[in-house]
Amino acid sequence: MSVFADAGRVLFVHAHPDDETLATGALIAWLVSEGVECRVLTATRGERGELVAGRFPEAPTEEFADWFVARRERELAGALRELGAGDPMFLGQAPARAPGLPPRRYADSGMRWVREGLAGPAEDSGPDSLTAADPAEAIADLAAGITAAAPDLVVTYDDAGGYGHPDHVRVHELTKAACAEVGVPMLEVLSDDRAEGEWHDLTPWHPKLAAALEHHQTQITVDGRDVIHSGGQREAMQLRTGVRAAG
Ligand SMILES: [Zn+2]
Repeated sequence: MSVFADAGRVLFVHAHPDDETLATGALIAWLVSEGVECRVLTATRGERGELVAGRFPEAPTEEFADWFVARRERELAGALRELGAGDPMFLGQAPARAPGLPPRRYADSGMRWVREGLAGPAEDSGPDSLTAADPAEAIADLAAGITAAAPDLVVTYDDAGGYGHPDHVRVHELTKAACAEVGVPMLEVLSDDRAEGEWHDLTPWHPKLAAALEHHQTQITVDGRDVIHSGGQREAMQLRTGVRAAG
């Protein structure tokens, strides 16, 4: 029996706008088609993502950071609408903020490539970044978000964080702790396509996934069944997705 068999509501926790679609967009589309209510909680606004070169002649050089963040929020909202996953939720803002605390933002920690396909920590991540944040505060915020969304299951990265981005790895750790606190089971999306787990062939969801990816114009170019990232890396869309219960 599928790990999703008894789930009426599923909450996906991701680090940056576009991760929800790149890693789990087809999975969300499938679950929504099965009548499962899906929501996405995103930890940062992906402030340190790179802009696809040449696509935004109107991008202001002054106040670029504000423009970029507002644009990424809109892209996330558009992708979620496409997937049928409701409005975005951000960590640090109601309802994903611990009771009694003023809203805050967790910023993208950035990354650098350690080798091809494996990311490591950026050397200059700021004091407001997710990886610099007090884990207890972030876990309390996540617990509040999970409680508000009241999911039967939470889905997030495995401990490899997909390709090792420090924010993905941190989101895995924080979500695992928050799920334990709230008492909601957690599934992890498998980074290694040979890993043991429950694998779903989601090829029929390619058109939906492609349409959702198209919303992430600052980050991604869609080319058939491939996505091309802002840095030029090409990869096949995630149409086969494996999950397993977090141990
Ligand atoms: Zn990411």
